[in-house]
Amino acid sequence: MSRAEELADGLGAVRARIAIACAAAGRDSEEITLVVVTKFFPASDVRLLAGLGVTDVGENRHQEAEAKAEGCAGLGLRWHFIGGLQSNKAAAVTTYAAMVHSLDRAKLVGPLDRGAAERGEPLPVLIQVSLDGPDAGDRNGVDPDDLTALAERIDGADHLRLSGLMAVAPRDEAPAAAFERLREIRSAFVLDHPEALVLSAGMSGDLEAAIAVGATHVRVGSAVLGSRPSVR
Ligand SMILES: *Cc1c(COP(=O)(O)O)cnc(C)c1O
Repeated sequence: MSRAEELADGLGAVRARIAIACAAAGRDSEEITLVVVTKFFPASDVRLLAGLGVTDVGENRHQEAEAKAEGCAGLGLRWHFIGGLQSNKAAAVTTYAAMVHSLDRAKLVGPLDRGAAERGEPLPVLIQVSLDGPDAGDRNGVDPDDLTALAERIDGADHLRLSGLMAVAPRDEAPAAAFERLREIRSAFVLDHPEALVLSAGMSGDLEAAIAVGATHVRVGSAVLGSRPSVR
């Protein structure tokens, strides 16, 4: 099988899963943006994916993302930055990112806002909210208790558009249970931010559970591209 055929198969299977999950949740699959996470995989795969109708791709490391976005310019792709951000790289991410999903602390607001101002186009951002339990050491995102304060900081930035929330289900819990908390966090959040309706949740292993609680963006890597090398 050629690489193009492999990717077409993976993509077809994921699109079918999305359609079934939407039907089960009484939703329209048009509501879901599939962000294909291409980290670790070469720009040649990104080009094949674009040829298969993929419009949105996700990356989690600045250097890799920047190089691939440059190598794939002209394909009309939207690049989603979904990984941990260092504040000294944050402004540079805005040169290619259509959306940043992983804004998780106030320190990133200034550099992202500056980068967006320089590029002359507002940057849609999502707040990554932690679904980790109270005992978790290293949180994956902002503590839900600090969400309001971070949202206010973003609202105060002229060139950022607070567009919604992002979350990753913790490894030590059933995704459906974690995403149920996300649903509650989000319904409280949108009362204050009625325009911030993006919900980025769901990966290869748990996209159905995310669609059931209202995800609008699923971030899927290995189910489309195959397993990533375990190094790095
Ligand atoms: C790698 C990654 C994904 C995709 O994970 P898969 O399990 O390969 O679908 C989604 N979200 C984030 C934040 C990631 O880093």
